[in-house]
Amino acid sequence: MTARTLFEKVWIAHEVLPETPDTPAVLYVDLHLIHEVTSPQAFSVLKSLGLPVRRPDRTLATMDHSTPTLSEQVFGNVPIRLDAAAKQVRQLELNAAEFGVELFGMRDMRRGIVHVISPELGATQPGMTVVCGDSHTSTHGAFGALAFGIGSTEVGHVLATQCLLQRKPKTFAINVEGKIPPGVTAKDLILAIIGKVGVSGGTGYVFEYRGSTIRALSMEERMTVCNMSIEAGARAGMIAPDETTFAYLRTKPRAPAAADWSAAVARWRNLTSDAGAAFDGSVDIDATTLEPMITYGTNPGMVVPIGAAIPKRTGDAVYDKALGYMGFHGGDAMLGKPVNVVFIGSCTNGRLEDLQAAAQILKGRKVAPGVQLLIVPGSQQVKHDAEAAGLAEIFRTAGAEWRESGCSMCLGMNGDTVPAGQYSVSTSNRNFEGRQGVGARTLLASPLTAAASAVRGRITDPRELL
Ligand code: SF4
Repeated sequence: MTARTLFEKVWIAHEVLPETPDTPAVLYVDLHLIHEVTSPQAFSVLKSLGLPVRRPDRTLATMDHSTPTLSEQVFGNVPIRLDAAAKQVRQLELNAAEFGVELFGMRDMRRGIVHVISPELGATQPGMTVVCGDSHTSTHGAFGALAFGIGSTEVGHVLATQCLLQRKPKTFAINVEGKIPPGVTAKDLILAIIGKVGVSGGTGYVFEYRGSTIRALSMEERMTVCNMSIEAGARAGMIAPDETTFAYLRTKPRAPAAADWSAAVARWRNLTSDAGAAFDGSVDIDATTLEPMITYGTNPGMVVPIGAAIPKRTGDAVYDKALGYMGFHGGDAMLGKPVNVVFIGSCTNGRLEDLQAAAQILKGRKVAPGVQLLIVPGSQQVKHDAEAAGLAEIFRTAGAEWRESGCSMCLGMNGDTVPAGQYSVSTSNRNFEGRQGVGARTLLASPLTAAASAVRGRITDPRELL
């Protein structure tokens, strides 16, 4: 029997029609996640063609990008600040009602960032194909699902047919071995991987994260790693399901129940790459040498260990432009650079373990004068759990702003923006020019580094405060 990778097993199981030299494969989609930003156009097309949603039972809608994070706007009668955002939210409510799609609306306890809520509901499961009109759909690969972002036009295709036209990607093994040192997190690991592979090193591939380090990660840490696969250019990132995956899913409301659970786990246990399965590319990472990482430029591959200096390069206009935007110079030390804003949240680092890590640093300390610390849970469930665990109180006492869930400052929405020229240490996944606001300067880092930098008011190695 041919030895197959995890990706190949999931791909083959969902091929309605295999690809040919002239045509892409037709791939069946198990779970279609939708939100307010990339779905309106798709629903309009369905309406114009008189088509229903093919599988409403395989479609879940939430609102996250355009939703406000101020409680009075979510639960009170204060209108959403941006008119365009308010319209998107309203349109999704109308479309979901018209097409019979389940929606977690503005005041629903199950609402949150799409890549946070589906796993916490147990809707994302091993071996599934999962798509969403959002790049960071790769998050769901942490469960051994083949999950990737699609465009607005493709959202319409999936709504209408539950299928997608796709060229088959190649496979790439990211082998990580060894114990991650204290103070270093899954976010540092994925930033180090992107630094090594490059922002386009994964183009055309699906990553499989493998090795003892990956096996030792919690599900939330695995989601952080898979979330940023797209930042290395990969179509998706996957991790083979194991006992950690099964233990996470066991209590989730939408996971298989009773006898179905045993049958599902038996099936899921086969979702590993066979011994001898060939990958088209690979890279090896030694986790024991990892350090907290921080970006200095305008893509996530422009990253260094926190104690390092910004690399010097000559004759590279793109590099010079990035450093010019950031107001940095080759040879500058990252440690000690001043910080204006700190954002802890997003689909990368807005889960309970991320907030627990931040609280470890913030407990009994104060945010430095003049620094804004915004902490935004990834979902209302995370918010509830963080409040029940006393984390919100720690954050408020430290001087942080504690908000309702949403994408918020990850993309600079509804006033959750970084002013032009200011420096933001952010736990999100993109540091492109203007991502957090016009002229905003974003430095990506872990929740530990973000919290430590908020306390000191400058870039700080979190290991100094642990
Ligand atoms: S948190 Fe950021 S990256 Fe994640 S879904 Fe929202 S906007 Fe996209």
